[in-house]
Amino acid sequence: MKPRTKLIHGGIPIDPHTGAVSVPIYQVSTYKQDGVGVHKGYEYSRTGNPTRHALERLIADLEEGSAGFAFASGMAAIHAVFGLLRSGDHVIITDDVYGGTYRIATKVLARQGIESTFADTTDPAELAAALRPNTKALFVETPTNPLLKVTDIAELARWAKAAGLLFIVDNTFGTPYWQTPIALGADIVVHSATKYLGGHSDVVAGLAVVSSEELAERLHFTQNATGGVLGPQDSWLLMRGLKTLGLRMEAHEHNARRIAAYLDGHSEVVAVYYPGLASHPQHELAGRQARGYGGIISFDAGSEERAVALLGRLKYFTLAESLGAVESLISLPAKMTHASIPKERRDALGITDGLIRLSIGIEDAEDLLEDLEQALKIEEE
Ligand SMILES: *Cc1c(COP(=O)(O)O)cnc(C)c1O
Repeated sequence: MKPRTKLIHGGIPIDPHTGAVSVPIYQVSTYKQDGVGVHKGYEYSRTGNPTRHALERLIADLEEGSAGFAFASGMAAIHAVFGLLRSGDHVIITDDVYGGTYRIATKVLARQGIESTFADTTDPAELAAALRPNTKALFVETPTNPLLKVTDIAELARWAKAAGLLFIVDNTFGTPYWQTPIALGADIVVHSATKYLGGHSDVVAGLAVVSSEELAERLHFTQNATGGVLGPQDSWLLMRGLKTLGLRMEAHEHNARRIAAYLDGHSEVVAVYYPGLASHPQHELAGRQARGYGGIISFDAGSEERAVALLGRLKYFTLAESLGAVESLISLPAKMTHASIPKERRDALGITDGLIRLSIGIEDAEDLLEDLEQALKIEEE
């Protein structure tokens, strides 16, 4: 099945119980048993729910994994995956990882005796230096947020395997439409489905997909034991969003390429970060390991004052956290999504106070370009 066909026909596309073409919202907590322990596969909705199950089958298909799991948020999914580790273990994490992942590692896992080292996962020497005898996992986000750094998934899969590490990839920015880390050797893929997979700024959800039956059993145990499951209504909304993922990703990318090229040539812009630009340090790798470059662009406006003034003048870019929805969004990572990262660390990573992140929507590119042009023009005067 080709990618856009899989979005429509993958998973459980038709309700097996009624023939409904859209799997219904099974708004139910428990299920009648014909005898003690005799049931139709469902006992209690924390353990399993038919609507959630249809979503879990779909994401497993899309990510080419063995089983999928749906959680109440991306952080709940990441927390459950980290739940596969135990006290005394050590994990290596991409340095400019999502702020919430940084927070869970430094404030939650640390308290439970799980240590972490943040490393530039695009640099083999830094990775090798981070490896310890008790290292059990490697957590990579690629492309990263907000600097769009790209890590070589296949190369790190080989490295992680040789070192006996569980290799986890946060595929929120790529989405399975553009990149499938499990096919490149990853063990687990996690998503904030709140972003592109949902796609309409109307649901908070997380997904995890594992590559083997053994991991499926362990993660299902954690999901059921800790209970951060996604409800049936939100599971249905995600499946509805996923049907148009291909169309949306193509539209995001089409617009993002034009806007990145425009910003790249602008005299008032200090730097532009977009894997689709030939000047991006991992441009060639991005083109090789993913089928598209995505819809996120970051650029440096020079200072916080200039960034704030600029975003105040834009009319089609809504100032908001989050990304990956049909409408264009703008944010100031240092003050918003990455505020939980200390300033010295942000500066060291290159997340300056003037850095602006754009989540390019699916509006007409001409309107978005015109909007940016008028906002940047005042800057020149
Ligand atoms: C938003 C995000 C998360 C967290 O997901 P929530 O759904 O907000 O809990 C994790 N990773 C990345 C890359 C994100 O963008």
